Amino acid sequence: MRLVLATRNPHKLREFALLLDGHALEPLPDAVELPPEDGDTFAANALGKARAAAAATGLPAFADDSGICVPALGGAPGIRSARWAGEDATDADNLEKLLAEAPDGADLEYVCVIAFTDPASGEEATFEGRCTGTLTREPRGEGGFGYDPAFVPDDDHTGRTMAELTAAEKDAISHRGRAARDFAAWLARR
Ligand code: IMP
Repeated sequence: MRLVLATRNPHKLREFALLLDGHALEPLPDAVELPPEDGDTFAANALGKARAAAAATGLPAFADDSGICVPALGGAPGIRSARWAGEDATDADNLEKLLAEAPDGADLEYVCVIAFTDPASGEEATFEGRCTGTLTREPRGEGGFGYDPAFVPDDDHTGRTMAELTAAEKDAISHRGRAARDFAAWLARR
C-alpha cells in the first residue's frame, strides 16, 4: 500500500522503512506543513500530523508521536520530549537534561502512538507501543537517536543501551517497533 509518512525525522523514516517493509512509504513532500505538536496526548499530536499529510497529498498517511516518560519526574518530559531542553534543543541537549534531572537508575518508559488516516474512506486508527528501561549515567553507543545512549531496555538482558543495539534488535523491543507491528497487522487485515 502507498502510505505517506508524516515526519521530517530521518531516523523515524529509516526505522519505519524496516518495520513496514512491503508497503511503499512515501516521504512527506517538502511543501506540506505539519501542524504544531500542541495536543495534550501522543495520539492527538500523531493524528494532527497524519491528517495534515493526508489532506495535502490525498493519500493514506500515518505519523507517530513519541517520547520518553520518567515516573520519578511525574511522567516528564512525555509529549514534550523533543523540545524538553528548549524550542531548538538538539538530541544532545535533551539527553544532558535527562542526565541532570533524573535520579540514578531511574525507571524510564518510551511511548509511541502511530495514527493512520485514509482520506478516501475517512477511516482513522491509532496504535500504541511502550518500552520500559532504566537510566544509565554513562551514555553509550552510536546507534538509534535521542535518549537511546542512556536508555537500558528491560527486554534486552545484556545490559546494553538502546544505542548499542543493532537496528533489528531495537525494533524487536522498541515502543515504535511494537506500535508498528500492530499497525502492520491491522493494515494486512483491512
Ligand atoms: P516526536 O515524536 O517527533 O515529537 O519526537 C519525540 C522525541 O522523543 C524525539 O525527539 C526523542 O527525543 C524522543 N524519542 C522518541 N522515540 C525515541 C527513540 O526511539 N529513541 C530515543 N529517543 C526517542
